[in-house]
Amino acid sequence: MAAAAAAAAAATTAPPPTCTPAGAFDPLLEVRLPTRSRIFISAPHNMRLHRDGHDDHQDEVYTSTLAHKFGQHLGAGSVCWAAEVRKRVRESGSAEAAARDPNFLLRAELDANGWNAALRAVRAGLGGADARCLHVDLHGARDPPHWEVDVQLGLGAMEQAEAAAAGAGAGAGAGAAGEAVKLRRALEARLRPMLAAKGWDLQAGGAETARPTLNGVATPDRFTMTEQSVAVGYSHAIQVEMSYRLRKAMVEEPELREAFAAAISVAWSDCVF
Ligand SMILES: [Zn+2]
Repeated sequence: MAAAAAAAAAATTAPPPTCTPAGAFDPLLEVRLPTRSRIFISAPHNMRLHRDGHDDHQDEVYTSTLAHKFGQHLGAGSVCWAAEVRKRVRESGSAEAAARDPNFLLRAELDANGWNAALRAVRAGLGGADARCLHVDLHGARDPPHWEVDVQLGLGAMEQAEAAAAGAGAGAGAGAAGEAVKLRRALEARLRPMLAAKGWDLQAGGAETARPTLNGVATPDRFTMTEQSVAVGYSHAIQVEMSYRLRKAMVEEPELREAFAAAISVAWSDCVF
């Protein structure tokens, strides 16, 4: 397992990307570029945000730290709200109008949005249209028993795009032989045993686990981060919902955190290399 994981990880890193996005990023964001993998990790909800027509979206604590640390471990890029912006919002206790929820954007605002721009710029630096690239979007969910499991892996955006490409609409079951199905199964095979060893479980909706409730797809007029990344050319995208207790454990335990990040990376490698 260790040798296979190392081989797969090596495959992920070859050839190294030449990530040279043009232009500056939105100053509200902290963007770190990929250094040796074709993976980009985001954490869009690590501060209080306005959500059109809803109560404010609450801070999903630890997700920025995990995005950057996963990125460091994998040689992946990462994007979070800048630390000074998060501090300002935390101290004031109120969301800022300029900080739109990037997981709930209207189509009309995508082009001018800093998060969407970061997804596009990093993707452009990772190679041509046929380059395989993974976007991992990190979120915080409530602990069980509110949800059945500590990890929900949402591949709804990939599935939706595969269904649309097949001309079948976004119906369930479309893309049965598609990349989303392969990735669901690979994630179950790689991540589930690693979590089980610590007493946690996941939902990915592959052959072994139930479909997650939180699957990365918004209403038809709104776009999640994974819907946006798939639209701009990431071949694979996963929305990762993690319980508070798992996030906290991963911040405190580097070994657990690195095993989690590596399992996602290796599962993806299993599918594409
Ligand atoms: Zn979230």
